[in-house]
Amino acid sequence: MRFSNLYAPTTKETPKDAQLPSHIFLTRAGFIQQVGSGLYNFLPMGKIVFDKIRQVVKEEMDNAGAQEVQMGVVSPADLWQESGRYSVFGKELLRFSDRKENGFVLGPTHEEVVVDMVRNRINSYKQLPLHLYQITTKFRDEARPRFGLLRGREFTMKDGYSFHASQEDLVREFNLMEATYTRILERLGLKFRAVEADSGAIGGSGSKEFMVLAPNGEDDIVVCDGCNYGANIEAAKRAKKTTTLEAPQANPAKFHTPNQNTIEAVGAYLHVDPFYTIKAVIKKAVFQDKEAVVVFFVRGCDALQETKAQNACGALELTDATAEEIEKAGLIAGYCGPIGLPEGVEFYIDQELEGEANLICGANEQDYHWVGVKVASFKPSRFKDLVAVEAGDCCVACGGKLGITKGIEVGHIFQLGQKYSKAMNATFLDQNGKAQPFWMGCYGVGVSRLIAVMIETSHDEKGCIWNLQTAPYAVEIIVSNTKDEESLAYAVSLYESLKAKGVEVLLDDRNERFGFKMSDFELIGFPYAVVVGKDFKEGKVELVSRKTLEKEGMGIDVVEAEILRRLV
Ligand code: ATP
Ligand code: MG
Repeated sequence: MRFSNLYAPTTKETPKDAQLPSHIFLTRAGFIQQVGSGLYNFLPMGKIVFDKIRQVVKEEMDNAGAQEVQMGVVSPADLWQESGRYSVFGKELLRFSDRKENGFVLGPTHEEVVVDMVRNRINSYKQLPLHLYQITTKFRDEARPRFGLLRGREFTMKDGYSFHASQEDLVREFNLMEATYTRILERLGLKFRAVEADSGAIGGSGSKEFMVLAPNGEDDIVVCDGCNYGANIEAAKRAKKTTTLEAPQANPAKFHTPNQNTIEAVGAYLHVDPFYTIKAVIKKAVFQDKEAVVVFFVRGCDALQETKAQNACGALELTDATAEEIEKAGLIAGYCGPIGLPEGVEFYIDQELEGEANLICGANEQDYHWVGVKVASFKPSRFKDLVAVEAGDCCVACGGKLGITKGIEVGHIFQLGQKYSKAMNATFLDQNGKAQPFWMGCYGVGVSRLIAVMIETSHDEKGCIWNLQTAPYAVEIIVSNTKDEESLAYAVSLYESLKAKGVEVLLDDRNERFGFKMSDFELIGFPYAVVVGKDFKEGKVELVSRKTLEKEGMGIDVVEAEILRRLV
C-alpha cells in the first residue's frame, strides 16, 4: 500500500473525553473514529488490525473443534422472556418494538438464541458434544461507555456456546477453552492471567476471566506471591483475617458513645482497634419486584465488596442508601448494628464474623453502642462472604501474601450448567432414553477490546507501538524527499521486492516534510521503518525500530535481508 492512497487521517488533536493512551492514539493515528457515545467506525488500518486479531481467535477456536456460525444482531424478546432474562438484565439490554409492536432486543450476548438454534435439532447424546461460536457485533447500553474500544456500547465479541451430555464433559471443554484462550493471548504477545471470576448476570457456576495486566485496567485482580492463585476482586477469597492485638474484654452492655458515629471515632473513643468493631454498610437494593434497604455488616477494618454484597442479597442493583431512606427504614446512621434491628430490615453478616466475640457494634439507638458482643444466634443464611480482599491479606490456597494489580478483562469462560437449557426446555435423550437438559458452557473474547489492549499495553508518549503479530503493516518505507527521483525509485523497488516476498509494507510516498512523516510513523507505530534519506547518495539507508526508536545505518544492499531476518 502507498501512503498517498491510504485513508489514515492522522491528527495532533487529542479527542475530547479521551483519557487513556489507547483511546487517544488509536483515534489520533487514524485507526478508529467515534460516531457517537460508545460507537466507533474502523478505518482501514483499524480494520486490518481487527481482522488479524479475529483470525487468531478463529484459528484457535477452529483448532479446538468449535464451529463458526453467525446469529442475528437482533433477537426476538420472546426468547429472552423464556429464559427469564428479559426482566432481569437491566438497562444494558436495549429493548425495542417493530411496526407491528413485536418486542426485540439488540443482542448483548446470545445464550437464548443459540439454545433455540439447537433445541429439537440435537436430540440424542450421540450428537454431543457440540460447540458453536460466532464473531459478531454485540450491543450493551453501558451506563458509562468510555475509554474508546475498551468499553463501547457496540463492540465485537467472539462468543462460543458448548453443549454436553454430562457435567464431566462440560468441565473437559471448559479446560480446553482455558488452554485455547491461553494460546490466543500468547499468540497476540500479551501478558495475562486467568483468574477466578464472579459469574454476573449470565449466571451458572465456575467461571474464569482472562485479565491482561495493565496499569489502566478497570478491574482489580488479586494475586498470590506464593502460588498461582488469582481472582477478580469481585470473587477473591482470603484466609480468615486474624490479629495479634488483644481483644477488649467487656461484659455485654450498652455503652454511651455520644457523637461517635464512625468506626474510627468509636474505636478511638473506646481505645479499641477497628478489627474488634462491626461496621454497617447501608445500601438500597433494587430487586425484580421491589426496592428495599439492606444492611451489610463487616469488620470495622474491612471494606464491603459490592459485587459480593449484590450476590448475597440477590439484588439487580445496589446504590448507597440516602439519609432519608435510612431514616425511613427505622435505622440510625452511625449507630446501626446486627442486634435489635427494626423489624423487616434485611441484613447480612460477613462470614468471618460468625461466632466471633468481644466485639463492638451500633445499638440501633442514637449515641449508643453495644460492647462485649458475640456474633451468634443468627440463621446460617445471614452469613455470606462480603469483604473486599486487600493487599497483605493471606492466600486461601497457600497462606502466602496477596497483592492487588490492575487488569483488563479480555475473555471470560463460564460453566453455565443447565440454567438455560432447563429454562428453555432444551433436552436430549441420554443413553437410557431419558430426556435431560443440555449441560452448557459459554466462552467470550472481546475482539474489538483487544485492539485497544494491544496499545494500552504497548505505547510511549509519541504513540502506538504495534508488535509484529498485530501491526497493520510490519514495515514502512519513508522517502524523506520524494522529489529526489533516485531515492523514490529505490524506495519503490524495495517496496515491490518486499511485497513480492509477502512482507506487509507501506510506502510513505507522500509529498510532505520528512519531520511530518516521521511523526506519523511514531504515532501510528509500525514495528520498523526504512528511511531513505540524505545518505542514500552514499548507498545507505536507516532502519528504525519503533520500540526503541534506534536508528541503524546500513547499506542498501543488505537492508532487505536485515528486514526479512527481523520479521521472522
Ligand atoms: P466487563 O466486566 O468489562 O463489563 P463483562 O464481564 O460484562 O465485561 P462478558 O459478558 O464476560 O463481559 O463478555 C465477554 C467479553 O466481552 C469480555 O471479557 C470483554 O472482553 C468483552 N466486552 C464486554 N463488554 C464490553 C464492552 N462494553 N466493550 C468492549 N468489549 C466488551
Ligand atoms: Mg465478564
